[in-house]
This record gives sequence, structure tokens and C-alpha cells, in this order.
Amino acid sequence: MPDATSPDLTALPELVDSHCHLDFADFNGEVDQLVARARAAGVTRMVTICTRIANLPYCQSLAESHPGVFFTYGVHPLHVTEEPKITATELIALSHHEKFVAFGETGLDFHYTPETREAQLISLREHITAAQQSGLPLVIHARNADEDMEKILAEGLKEAPYSAVMHCFSSGPRLAGAALEMGFYLSMSGIAAFPKSQEIRDIFAAAPLERILVETDSPYLAPPPHRGRRNEPAYVAHTAAVGARLYGLSAAEFARATSENFDRLFPRAADWGRNRS
Ligand SMILES: [Zn+2]
Ligand SMILES: [Zn+2]
Repeated sequence: MPDATSPDLTALPELVDSHCHLDFADFNGEVDQLVARARAAGVTRMVTICTRIANLPYCQSLAESHPGVFFTYGVHPLHVTEEPKITATELIALSHHEKFVAFGETGLDFHYTPETREAQLISLREHITAAQQSGLPLVIHARNADEDMEKILAEGLKEAPYSAVMHCFSSGPRLAGAALEMGFYLSMSGIAAFPKSQEIRDIFAAAPLERILVETDSPYLAPPPHRGRRNEPAYVAHTAAVGARLYGLSAAEFARATSENFDRLFPRAADWGRNRS
């Protein structure tokens, strides 16, 4: 339940922004207003994805000062040569806070940095091990790496179970099918709302509703009508409207489904809410 000081949101469907970057300099000093605007748009919960070890204390403090904010940590594939190399054991040691809900974002990005492929693969494997050993899910970033991604995710599942979301899904239909087959989730970002993204919309429309999340990846990828400007968690409502149309649902029905999916994939966030309601 919302805390006593929050506005009455009974008229609005409760949405979750499953992936944003509140620690980025783009948002400096404005997080209180961002969270307030998000709540006013029905976005009652959000996960801030920490990709810089130096920012982890700040991300934790955001989660501690805002009931609806949860956090993660992981080494972004574009940062593997800048961030300290991390092992599964070290990742798990960072994960014990009650609002630390996942490892990531980790993954493979061969669009910008194909030259760090080996380091990206090693880093992703450590994150998979951490997920297997802790039971926390993975937040996965994939770009221009469909083949390697499918292979490494499947190899991991052969060793031990773990769960994951393919965040900001913009890969091909084969990887989408493989990820769903493995029991993973696909997260819809503002990309799905861009006019040119018909292939992405088709992938989502063909995926089971119970495996769909929504996110902003803010400050990036603002959906229309904000495209090209700074994105923020409140705008996940625009992406969710696109999702609702794809599934032929009302905004409230789509919000309820994606929030339930979020609670299933991120049990620590669900538990935190239950303990306070
Ligand atoms: Zn990403
Ligand atoms: Zn991100």
C-alpha cells in the first residue's frame, strides 16, 4: 500500500518502471521531483539500475529515502574495462540490502565495443553465477549479440536455474523466442513506441502477457510524445499505453499484469511491499 502521505492513486493503474538510472548526472538534485511526478502518473515503483560501483552508496540511499525505489548493481557490458573486474562472490556480498532486487545490468553489447567481447563474456558469466547462487534475478542488456547471448544464457541454465529479464528488448525474434523458452521475461522500453519499431512490436505481441515488463531506461529512449528529450520514470505510462494496445487490454489491465510479472520476477521487491502493507 502507498504510505500515508502519498496521493490517492486509486483511479490510476499502478505501474512499475522496471529499469531507470536515477543516479545519472542528468537527474542531479531532482530525484524527489522525478519520484513525485512518477507517482502522479501512477508509477508507484521503479528500479534504479546501478552500473558504477562508485555510485552504489548513492543508489542505496535513494532506495532508503523513497518507498517505491529499489536498486541493483551490475557491470554494464560497455563498462567492463572501466569498472573493477568482479566475481560472483563479490557481487553476492554487495546484494544483501532488503531493497537490492537484482544483479545487472550485465550482458553483451557488440555494437559499440566489439573489442571487449571476451571481457564481456567473462563478466556476464560471473553475474549468471551470482544469480544462480543467490536466487536474485538478472537484468540483461543485449545489443548486436544475439547468437552469443542465446548460447551463454542456455549454458548457464544447464548448470543451475536462474531467472532474468531481457531489458529494453530490441534484439531479434530468435533471441526473444529462446529467452521466453528459458522462462525469462522481456521488458518493453520506449523503443517499442517508435514508429519504425514494428518488428519489436510484433515480437511483444507474440509473447505471453505474463512475461512482459515495462521500463523507461531513463534518461535515455523517451517514448513519443517526449522522444529526443530526457526520459523519466513517469513516461513509462506512454510505453505501457502502446503495450496495452498490442494486447487489446485497458491501461489498468495491462498495468496490473506487468506489475504482477514484476513481483514474480523480483521477489525481494514484492516481499518488501508485503512487509509494509
Ligand atoms: Zn541497457
Ligand atoms: Zn540501462
